[in-house]
Amino acid sequence: HRKSFARRWERDDVIATLRKRDTFSHKGSHGKGVVIGGQQMMPGSVTLTASAALRAGAGLLTVATVKDNISIIAHKCTEAMYHVLEEQDGTIKENDVTPFRTFDGAAIGMGMGRDPVTAKFTQRLIHDLDIPVIVDADGLHHLKPILNKVGKRNYPLIITPHYGEMAMLTEYTIDRIKLSPMAIAKEFARKYQLYVVLKGKFTIITSPDGKQTVSDTGNAGLAKGGTGDVLSGVILAMVMQHSSHLEALCNACYIHGASADMRVKTGRNTEIDMLASDVIDGLSHVFHTLF
Ligand code: AMP
Ligand code: MG
Repeated sequence: HRKSFARRWERDDVIATLRKRDTFSHKGSHGKGVVIGGQQMMPGSVTLTASAALRAGAGLLTVATVKDNISIIAHKCTEAMYHVLEEQDGTIKENDVTPFRTFDGAAIGMGMGRDPVTAKFTQRLIHDLDIPVIVDADGLHHLKPILNKVGKRNYPLIITPHYGEMAMLTEYTIDRIKLSPMAIAKEFARKYQLYVVLKGKFTIITSPDGKQTVSDTGNAGLAKGGTGDVLSGVILAMVMQHSSHLEALCNACYIHGASADMRVKTGRNTEIDMLASDVIDGLSHVFHTLF
């Protein structure tokens, strides 16, 4: 009787699969991504996702958010472009999804809010977009009611829950998930035909066909608000630049954690003072060591 183990994604795997920049490449070669979220008073998470995507190599990056957030985001992320989402009292309304069809990938749900009207918009995006879509944070709450309808997509749907969000999606308790996270992630990915990135000390990456890998980089400095938003941005960049979705996800998780490890190892941060934005800053160092 052979027990099946998930493969641990190693540094050598990243070096073997990470796409290098072609000498003659232009910004269009590296993916045109969009980050959709950020209701009023919540500009931080989309800013982190957008900055992380650009740092991780995305060619072009647009933030779709409510009008009042734009000047705040632009102050922190000079390179991004913007799409104004219609709102009511700061809550994102049901916007036209057509403009988002022209992107190479979308990350949806950060700071998006849980309003039922916003839920409708998110559900339409998930249903209608035929590009790789990453759903995180509030977006996961909007995804739950339509899980049974997402299986027929032609393009990958990637979800990035932490254990609490996985509990919400599956209706297992967090303690139950902790007992067999691999099996529960696999069951979920197969059932709904999506990629699951189950985030924690060890992050388990599962493809719709049940293939699994584990990424164990990162440290307790990541246990702070905003780091998950950074991961979503790195994932967006990687997925747009790589033909294998599973490899792209593994590389993103590895690099995100490696950046946190590097920050501590080189004395730039401790696990206590590390911020999500420090993890973005650390990405350059990680890429340097990989090439
Ligand atoms: P979120 O909970 O959505 O903000 O995401 C947190 C991110 O930080 C995920 O990528 C987790 O895998 C990572 N993380 C949180 N706590 C730890 C820890 N103690 N060790 C390693 N990674 C962690
Ligand atoms: Mg999160």
